[in-house]
Amino acid sequence: MPADQSAHTSNIRPPAMGEPYLLTPGPLTTAYSVKEKMLRDWGSWDGDFRAMTAQLRQELLALIGDDKQAFDCVPIQGSGSFVVEAMLGSLLPRDSRTLVLVNGAYGQRIVKTLAYIGREAVVIDKGDYLPPRGAEVAAALKQDAAITHVVVVHCETSSGILNPVAEISEAVYAAGRKLLIDSMSAFGAIPLDVSEIRYEALVSSANKCIEGVPGFGFVIARKSELEAARGNAHSLSLDIHDQWAHMEKTGQWRFTPPTHVVAAFIEALRLHRLEGGVEGRGARYKANCETMVEGMRALGFETLLRDRWLSPIIVTFFCPQDPKFEFGKFYDLMKQKGFIIYPGKLTVVDSFRVGCIGQMDPAVMRQVVEAAGQSLREMGVESAAPPQAALAEREKLAA
Ligand SMILES: *Cc1c(COP(=O)(O)O)cnc(C)c1O
Repeated sequence: MPADQSAHTSNIRPPAMGEPYLLTPGPLTTAYSVKEKMLRDWGSWDGDFRAMTAQLRQELLALIGDDKQAFDCVPIQGSGSFVVEAMLGSLLPRDSRTLVLVNGAYGQRIVKTLAYIGREAVVIDKGDYLPPRGAEVAAALKQDAAITHVVVVHCETSSGILNPVAEISEAVYAAGRKLLIDSMSAFGAIPLDVSEIRYEALVSSANKCIEGVPGFGFVIARKSELEAARGNAHSLSLDIHDQWAHMEKTGQWRFTPPTHVVAAFIEALRLHRLEGGVEGRGARYKANCETMVEGMRALGFETLLRDRWLSPIIVTFFCPQDPKFEFGKFYDLMKQKGFIIYPGKLTVVDSFRVGCIGQMDPAVMRQVVEAAGQSLREMGVESAAPPQAALAEREKLAA
């Protein structure tokens, strides 16, 4: 029976010892029981730890609904970017040519990574926040027969836009190419069922929607791709094939695993399951997002994105035009009230971001809005309305 809304939201507890809430897309506010699991030391070679590794792989795989067992999950040490690099370096053959769909900082990082590891790339760059659409992907693939792979960021965390991966996947496979997805900030809260959206691999990390602490990420890939990846990698420590082969044989990570992080992650997975899995987690984030956006708009703030492209992960707001508004000061005032917000990452206009993920519920989000209103008053800001130019820019999204 699915847990009802009140049951799961009542499990949310304020962070311990007066810690501020992290309204950031990871690291984020974790449950007390997740932190508590890090109080014990584990031998990485020991059977108990190997069992945790096996459980972690199995439970993550279950989240993509892989009935045919065509996929496998390979965890690997490092932050999310290490694991993106591992996926690209391992799954892209050296003579591949990859179309990267860019609409923000994480897409740009993928392009930079490909340059470092010496893989050919072509780019569709949509700027700060326009979504790459299926039709333009289809056109690009038709025009360039040498492209073998396409890479897309699921939720582009720099603007918060939720990219239309389903239509992109259709375009990619209609043209007989392969899709890799950076689902770092979406996996676990936004469905990526392999029976509904076709792809070869996705990547995510411990400290985003599963609500663990930072220290490792994981690639979920088609086994045939993992097998074919042998010998592709530019780097020993980032070789997904080698990590996979070793894990299959020994049940162990190749090099020292982040044992405490894994123990905490097992607890985070348990809480994810209790909340109703991807659906339940996504529903809470959506409620968080709606409550916060509604309240911020009532204060006069405007979102960068129109509702259609808003993700329940993180929301970008324009900085108010009022000359008394200063982001640094706003940040400090919010922090004094117990909320860490996130600077913007746009190139054209001033902005800031508020994350909706982590151990928070709509009641917390109402406090966030309250704190934002109070902070504006303390700064003497009369209107939170953005500059007209910023709004004009946004109108492009109406198209
Ligand atoms: C968080 C994130 C990453 C990885 O960032 P790290 O700081 O290396 O953990 C990559 N892509 C996206 C879309 C992200 O949100």
